[in-house]
Amino acid sequence: MNFFQHNRNALICLMESYQFDDTIITVNKTGASSFSKVSYPIRYGRFSEIKTPKYIYQFNLNGQIKYIQGKNQNWPDPNEWLKRTVSNDWIYYSSGGYQGIYSFIGEYYVPYFNYPCNTIFRHNPFGSTHIESAIRSLDDLLLSLSYLPSRKVPPAIRQFITLATPYSLSALDRNLNTLHSIIGNPVTVLPPDTRHVDYEVIPIIIADGCIYNCGFCSVKQRKKFTLRSKKNILEQMNRLKAFYKEDMYNYNSIFLGQHDALNAGLELIKFSALHAYELLDIKNSNIKEPRLFLFGSVDSLIQTDETSFKALNKMPFYTYINVGLESADQNTLDFLKKPVSAEKVQRAFSKMIDINRKFEHIEITANFILNKDLPDDHYDSVLNLTHNSLDRFYSKGNIYLSPMNPEADKKEIQKKFMHLKNQSRLPTHVYLIQRL
Ligand code: SF4
Repeated sequence: MNFFQHNRNALICLMESYQFDDTIITVNKTGASSFSKVSYPIRYGRFSEIKTPKYIYQFNLNGQIKYIQGKNQNWPDPNEWLKRTVSNDWIYYSSGGYQGIYSFIGEYYVPYFNYPCNTIFRHNPFGSTHIESAIRSLDDLLLSLSYLPSRKVPPAIRQFITLATPYSLSALDRNLNTLHSIIGNPVTVLPPDTRHVDYEVIPIIIADGCIYNCGFCSVKQRKKFTLRSKKNILEQMNRLKAFYKEDMYNYNSIFLGQHDALNAGLELIKFSALHAYELLDIKNSNIKEPRLFLFGSVDSLIQTDETSFKALNKMPFYTYINVGLESADQNTLDFLKKPVSAEKVQRAFSKMIDINRKFEHIEITANFILNKDLPDDHYDSVLNLTHNSLDRFYSKGNIYLSPMNPEADKKEIQKKFMHLKNQSRLPTHVYLIQRL
């Protein structure tokens, strides 16, 4: 039995609560064991919780804050909450004030970030004093826990307090650097498909850079495509295991980065995915249905042969591969400075449809640019693929429309999106860029 398994068995015990003043601490709470799309607050895996009259704080299995939900009258909506990512960004989950959110993003909550992104929604709550106060309240809470007389507190609660109290906001900030130093860089963009697991992925970089370095792209690493060595990949996994610690068991998903892992070839993908499955103990995760996410490119998708897809299909993951097609109109591709031909984009799209039909455990999805200033030929080229080339609606193979320069006119971009979505014969959503 390894260190983590031993610790894990020690921690998987009954839920236990302790009250002092008007604060209730509960440890070993169990959330849902598979991801689902619901229109109310849901938590996954195992966690601990502190309820005060003003807030509900939820902590991951390392005692680090993960969610804060307001209960006071200043909080925008009792069904909305803040989430902290492992890279120490804050995301506000907003349920509404907006009709048809699900049509736009395929989810019941709109994420708002505390950093600039390509959102087409307004009303970002960051900057509101109520949201800032909720985040800042963590340090006072941890301080009050450290004053509790430990002899009066049950052992499981004491163990949680010992874990949680070192993780002040500034200590969490320092922790972020550890993640980025382990994988070598920040993840500038996650695949849109990671929305299916609420962007909760463990990132492992198997190749840096990308093969196109398109002119329009704001998330590229500006590096030549370069493979990581197997030694480097295994080192990342071992260090990630030490970084995620016990909370590793609250993850069922791996992201193989960065921008074109498919171009790394089947051997390195399989090596990385299967080692991650074992080393990060995905099969014993608190959350079922393992998922693997990666990006591909027009060229890497065309070049990957059917034997490789057969092998991927047999892996212990459901695999999502997201490919940036951007446009099937040559003038638009030239305008975007994307060095591929419209003919290749069409071939890549046909292959995506073909692979999605043939392989039960693989889903290839595609992105196209959404921008109010692009010519009609661009939108016609997208509809030619997503409507004219298909004989009926297919539920597999999501199309993501990626807003470019969304500050320009959000209403106009939303209209363009609905026009494409209503005619598309594939599920179609907006790509909200999220980093890690
Ligand atoms: S769009 Fe994709 S391929 Fe093009 S530069 Fe950005 S990351 Fe690289």
